Amino acid sequence: MPSEADYIGRFAPSPSGPLHFGSLVAALASFLDARSHHGQWLLRMEDLDPAREPPEAAGQILRSLDAFGLHWDGEVLYQSTRLEAYREALHQLQAQGLIYACDCSRQDVQGMGGVYDGRCRHRSDPVTGGALRVQVTDETLHFDDLIQGLQAQQLGKECGDFVVLRKDGLFAYQIAVVVDDAWQHITHVVRGSDLLDSTARQIYLQQRLGYATPRYAHIPVAVNAEGQKLSKQHFARAIDDAHPAPQLWQVLQFLGQAPDPALANASTDDILHWAIQHWDIQAVPKLANIRHDCDDAASPD
Ligand code: GLU
Repeated sequence: MPSEADYIGRFAPSPSGPLHFGSLVAALASFLDARSHHGQWLLRMEDLDPAREPPEAAGQILRSLDAFGLHWDGEVLYQSTRLEAYREALHQLQAQGLIYACDCSRQDVQGMGGVYDGRCRHRSDPVTGGALRVQVTDETLHFDDLIQGLQAQQLGKECGDFVVLRKDGLFAYQIAVVVDDAWQHITHVVRGSDLLDSTARQIYLQQRLGYATPRYAHIPVAVNAEGQKLSKQHFARAIDDAHPAPQLWQVLQFLGQAPDPALANASTDDILHWAIQHWDIQAVPKLANIRHDCDDAASPD
């Protein structure tokens, strides 16, 4: 386990729109965990899918983070500038004989019960215009989530060979995130629990690419501090840069940090100062039930 001085965390939004309550939760939790460890907090813009990214969104996100006092260290890393590194990682996997082309549709995969059955692995006819998948194994991958506890996933059974280069030629989230977490020497990944099921796939890629595995902590972004399900509307509500303090207070409450009600009227700096001093990752609510669902549609790829 790295010493406190070695802590490097990150927030890695996809600029598909302005920050909403759920992404502010992930931003604040990763920020507080980093700062309370006297660590660095890096910002990575996961802008790999231009068709889903309004050109103004990345700038809006940066302005919101500033308005909320969430100041990052160093330069922002834009994934759109990193394609060469992803290509290199793909070549490394290809050299290990782990990559094959597949032209099955999403519907085909749904017809397999959502777990890709590897049918294109041994095809003799050439596949043109397909996606590239990485072959997985039947081994069970384990990791100890700092919030959700021990997790285990058998990729072969629960996930199947997964896409690393999409049919449209874009790199998939799973490979890009792994390459950049390694390149930025990220030691701690604190993010939304919608990505809990992606973690085993990411650990698998880290192992194949010879990278270290960071510690993971998944925030249950779809439930409140009482474990009740948040309505989509509440969760997706855009944040208001003009009034950061009360929203920071709400997010702290959501994160189980029991902020003093008087703090809701304090300055953002005072709230953040209090929150860094009092950050308790064990107080973050745990997920009531964890599903291991590798549905590609649920991943941001
Ligand atoms: N870019 C991803 C998203 O916005 C998050 C990636 C991550 O934190 O690993 O959902």
